[in-house]
Amino acid sequence: MEGAQILEVAVAAPLMGLFDYLPPPAMAFELLPGMRVRVPFGKGTRVGLLMGLKAGSTVPEGKLRQALAVLDAEPLLPGDLRRLLSWASAYYQHPPGEVLAAALPKALREGREPTRRRKLKTPPAAAAELASADVPPVLTNEQGRAVAAVNAAAGFRCFLLDGVTGSGKTEVYLRCIQERLNAGQQSLVLVPEIGLTPQLLERFRRRFPVPMAVLHSGLADGERLRAWTAARDGTARIVIGTRSAIFTPLKHPGLLVVDEEHDASYKQQDGFRYSARDLAVWRARELGIPLVLGSATPALESVENAQSGRYERLVLAERAGTAGQPTAHLIDMRTHQPRDGLTQPLLAAIRRHLAADGQVLIFLNRRGYAPTLVCVGCGTVISCDRCDARMVLHQQRGRVTCHHCGSDRAAPEDCPACHAELRAVGQGTERLEQALAREFPAQAMERIDRDTTRRRGEIERRLERVHSLKARLLLGTQMLTKGHDFPGVTLVGIVDVDQGLFGTDFRSAERLAQTFIQVAGRAGRADRPGEVYLQTLFPDHPLLRVLLADGYGAFATLALAERQQAGWPPWSSLALLRAEATERPLVFSFLESAAALARTALPPGLRVLGPAPAPMERRSGRYRGQLLLQADARRVLQRFLPDFRAALTALPTQRRVRWSMDVDPSELF
Ligand code: ADP
Ligand code: ZN
Repeated sequence: MEGAQILEVAVAAPLMGLFDYLPPPAMAFELLPGMRVRVPFGKGTRVGLLMGLKAGSTVPEGKLRQALAVLDAEPLLPGDLRRLLSWASAYYQHPPGEVLAAALPKALREGREPTRRRKLKTPPAAAAELASADVPPVLTNEQGRAVAAVNAAAGFRCFLLDGVTGSGKTEVYLRCIQERLNAGQQSLVLVPEIGLTPQLLERFRRRFPVPMAVLHSGLADGERLRAWTAARDGTARIVIGTRSAIFTPLKHPGLLVVDEEHDASYKQQDGFRYSARDLAVWRARELGIPLVLGSATPALESVENAQSGRYERLVLAERAGTAGQPTAHLIDMRTHQPRDGLTQPLLAAIRRHLAADGQVLIFLNRRGYAPTLVCVGCGTVISCDRCDARMVLHQQRGRVTCHHCGSDRAAPEDCPACHAELRAVGQGTERLEQALAREFPAQAMERIDRDTTRRRGEIERRLERVHSLKARLLLGTQMLTKGHDFPGVTLVGIVDVDQGLFGTDFRSAERLAQTFIQVAGRAGRADRPGEVYLQTLFPDHPLLRVLLADGYGAFATLALAERQQAGWPPWSSLALLRAEATERPLVFSFLESAAALARTALPPGLRVLGPAPAPMERRSGRYRGQLLLQADARRVLQRFLPDFRAALTALPTQRRVRWSMDVDPSELF
């Protein structure tokens, strides 16, 4: 290349595209993509990342500014990660500088030196690091085949490890990781939540006496930087993290694992709305290494990818060890009237399992005392002032709370309209805890939900009491379904399975099936048979019938056929344009002009649906609406979006709303 080089820099700013700069005056280091540069930006300076170098710029001469300094002696980000960031920025239509901000620890974004490696909170890498610390079990035939398939992969290959709960998926990951350790390579493991699964980390630590890096949102800046650096310089041989850990640089990448790949937490729900699961597929391909997606309830997208042969399906149909599958029973709440949410057959089952020294888990995915507080006189329902939502009664605290915006106030004594009595309707975990305490006064009980586990260390303390069998009655929300292994649990009771049965979202049925299978899977994981009881008002619902009789696989086949008929993903590709403002007309005039814009340039195979109000139209005092773009193929949507997005930024109506683009939305609200 001749003449002055132009630097293409990603700068954290809400603008699509890279920024052009002239090279800095005195360069201490040779310029290479992946290095950080300090650049003038507006009236101040920012730290950006050099993404590329080119010969000329479209910025008029004289307007081009000069970078101030190069901050790194060598590229901070490896090529695969830089390309991942560029690709993700284009795919999700999100500014590259903000995408970069999601990938870099704060200290590095601020221009600090990457620390030379300091101590990691793990045993040192000894010469004996390849020897296992605990004795691994003999693999089952199914596990053996799965491990062999992954280990035999030369280059990129995506495996869907489709294994029932307790079938030993984690054991498969551990063996594949061992193989990579033996080859001197690193493994990156994504998990939905780390705070909730101390057991999983324990299992990794016991198995592998090697330095590990753990990355999650609860880390202090310094801890995060150290873990990131250890992954980048190869010190950490295993990296375990939540969603954003997909952006961790690896010196010797060998294997990617996404545990519970169906989990909704892999999709970021604000700002840069990426899917870590989908990015893992892209990154593994770029790195030329195998990827294992594991789940007992794979996302329908993944099931379809396996059926079409894009992913290789590895099946673990049997539970590991001696545990069998739990047996499920439906309780018809039309014939068995519940009292405080509990029917007689469920109470009898609880009594039976407690008497046989079993442990009991009761699941209700609703915290608080009661979801509705209604006046017996005039029927007024206590609602949130800022949302289209009811206030949830938290009786112990004497408050009503909105679970959508966090509004919280003293619970009213009587009806604010007519001063008649207020009645708490429906069940939350707090109320259920009281009901269970009345029925089983002698039993120690642990309730695990967001309200009881706010304090640091509280979840560990509660789980410990469950594991040591100090508490035999266990009650909680979704928090309990995230990968916990409760060897003593023999009975799972699902208080209200109907919550998800008639959801409005195209993913409602899938989510319900996943929750049901995951909760039921907590029963009978050791050597005792498990039982599951579900209370429902709709025992003939086809979804429940298929799930109970034939399992998740049969459900997935049925649900995929329904999606195909309705033209929902994976049979189409979606992008959702969301908008919100304090005044409703502003939202709709923007969305209508956006829809008109889209319709003028609509390619074949792309449809515009809406605008429509969001399912919960008012939230946190703002009105919300949306426009849905539905394409027959991903490629059609991807070709359309860049120009559409650029045109949106030029609309006069866009200035007074907050809007965002969600590519592959996981929920339509
Ligand atoms: P999953 O991740 O599929 O839920 P885990 O890997 O946690 O399953 O295994 C469930 C239980 O079975 C664990 O207690 C684990 O130690 C045990 N286990 C896994 N594989 C084997 C095996 N091959 N033989 C005996 N026990 C096993
Ligand atoms: Zn609210």
